[in-house]
Amino acid sequence: MCWWTYLLLGVYYRISLPLRWWFFRKAVRSGRVPAIILFYHRVADDCATPWTISNRMFRRQVQGLCRRVELVSLNELQRQLSERNNRRLLCAITFDDGYAENCQQAIPLLLERRIPFTYFVTVGNILSGKPFEHDLKCGLSPRPNSLEEIRWMAAAGAQIGPHGWNHVDLGSLRCSKALHREVVASKEALASLVGQPIDYFAFPYGYPRNIPPEAIRLAKSAGYRGICSAYGGYNFPGDDPFHLKRYHGDHSFLLYRHRLRPDWLKLCRSNRSSVEETKELAGLVGECARTNALISIPATEALASRPATEAFAATTVLDKEFSDPETAEAAAATPQKGNINAACDSLVLEETAPSLAGFASRG
Ligand SMILES: [Zn+2]
Repeated sequence: MCWWTYLLLGVYYRISLPLRWWFFRKAVRSGRVPAIILFYHRVADDCATPWTISNRMFRRQVQGLCRRVELVSLNELQRQLSERNNRRLLCAITFDDGYAENCQQAIPLLLERRIPFTYFVTVGNILSGKPFEHDLKCGLSPRPNSLEEIRWMAAAGAQIGPHGWNHVDLGSLRCSKALHREVVASKEALASLVGQPIDYFAFPYGYPRNIPPEAIRLAKSAGYRGICSAYGGYNFPGDDPFHLKRYHGDHSFLLYRHRLRPDWLKLCRSNRSSVEETKELAGLVGECARTNALISIPATEALASRPATEAFAATTVLDKEFSDPETAEAAAATPQKGNINAACDSLVLEETAPSLAGFASRG
């Protein structure tokens, strides 16, 4: 993080605290308190990447969450949102990708404190044991979770969900079979592998441009209770509860605190708030009828085009900076997407059965 953006955000955070508190009390009275969903990737103390957080920082964040919010499961958070009235500051914890190091300290910490969480895994990497493409592009090869680790988490009470089969940008897939494998086959495979119903799907990269209408249709018809994006935003009562918006948890501690106390002033000052932008996607979730072009504008780009004070601009720059790792991941995955599109005619779905059969025989 650039030092001046960090400094500006710190100043802005301090100055805006009384106003945030005032708006929060107002939201409590009107039943319009938003719910927060944080997502993490890799909790480890070595080979730091932009999507890695140290064990010490993760523990500090969890302690802060325990004091400031009510930690709930995605199911409970969604149930509260669908009631269109929420007076509690709810927060759910999720993980994306599925890194083995998470099982060393982060997951035991959550289990020990009985904190619910949802763990989204890339099914293909769990089965093959191969490192993620976006890590290999950085010259790193952290191990993905093994099937045994996923089963251990599920047995201990964690909610498991798919993050696609191959961690590709679903918005770039032009083959319906490949899309089916990423959204539907990954759900069926996980359900049989961990022996629990699969309720939620987290889109790789998670920006509107990575969430095509066809994938949303598939998710609904496959029986998912909800889908998770990754471009930020609070979940307000009255929003379509099928679409769950999430914020990065694995950034600086200051940004984590900044997001934990909703920046109401920023939402109110924006001509077209992030809430409205995410409602566009929520509308799409409901109707499944808009074009890819309509949802191809990232929220951060739209925010950057607005008139803003320096402090607001700093927070926008921060949003954009922190979207870069995901953008880099998307760029890194591009060749893989091409391969999948090209290979989909060779009976993609039929490839799934033997690989699952192999793991079933291993027990
Ligand atoms: Zn991911």
